[in-house]
Amino acid sequence: MTKKKIAVVTGANRGIGKEIARQLALNNVFVILTARDPVKGQHSVDELKSAGLDVEFQSLDMDSEESMIRLADYVQNQYGRLDILINNAALGGGGDSLRVPMKEFRRTFETNFFGPLRLSQLLVPLLRKSESGRIINISSGMGALNRMGGGDAAYRISKTALNSLTAVMAADLSGTPIKVNTMCPGWVRTDMGGSSAPRSVEKGAETAVWLALEKNIPSGKFFRDKKIIDW
Ligand code: NAP
Repeated sequence: MTKKKIAVVTGANRGIGKEIARQLALNNVFVILTARDPVKGQHSVDELKSAGLDVEFQSLDMDSEESMIRLADYVQNQYGRLDILINNAALGGGGDSLRVPMKEFRRTFETNFFGPLRLSQLLVPLLRKSESGRIINISSGMGALNRMGGGDAAYRISKTALNSLTAVMAADLSGTPIKVNTMCPGWVRTDMGGSSAPRSVEKGAETAVWLALEKNIPSGKFFRDKKIIDW
């Protein structure tokens, strides 16, 4: 049984999720690195372990409630608590709002919104056992209503919904030590962001890790570069 803080990171086999897992582990957090593909997830864990980091792999598909329940049961049985949940996994795209097929809209919402909602519901009982539980939802400036544009409709609207969920869940958990925040990593060089994005994954992950570990932060806010931004 580890005495370290324990984190669950979703979609952590690549991109920003993997880098958040790496930075948390570098900060003495035990990381349960999750991914829907066990081969890719185990590969990332092996890579981080070979760098001396304290991580393990668990399978988690954000489109499957059964998979989320299995993960929550595992964390309960193995560790009996959780300190940090990073809802990172997401699908991009989604096209023009007038043409995007409903199937694609629903699939994007399943992964980007309903997944984080259900996983948070399942893991909050374990976060309540932490002295400083944290939920960090990885969102995007593309979901901010104050600068909404066209295109990528399913993605944008799913992130707006995730932002709203953050504010509501933070209010529902007020009076507990659990803080719920959302953040935009900026435009980052990953499979989703593409190779011409200006930011490194290290920079993209930084604010999420800060929100997970910093003692004095508010709850129910939207951040970029460690500063509150408009919804
Ligand atoms: P990425 O490279 O495309 O990685 C996405 C991750 O999500 C992958 O590990 C993918 O797994 C996983 N995933 C997708 N559907 C899943 C599911 N149903 N269950 C479990 N895992 C699933 O994206 P990224 O750039 O690292 O993005 C990470 C987060 O940052 C996302 O929330 C994204 O919206 C946000 N963000 C990114 C940028 C950017 O410029 N990159 C900008 C703003 C916000 P597979 O490998 O199995 O597909």
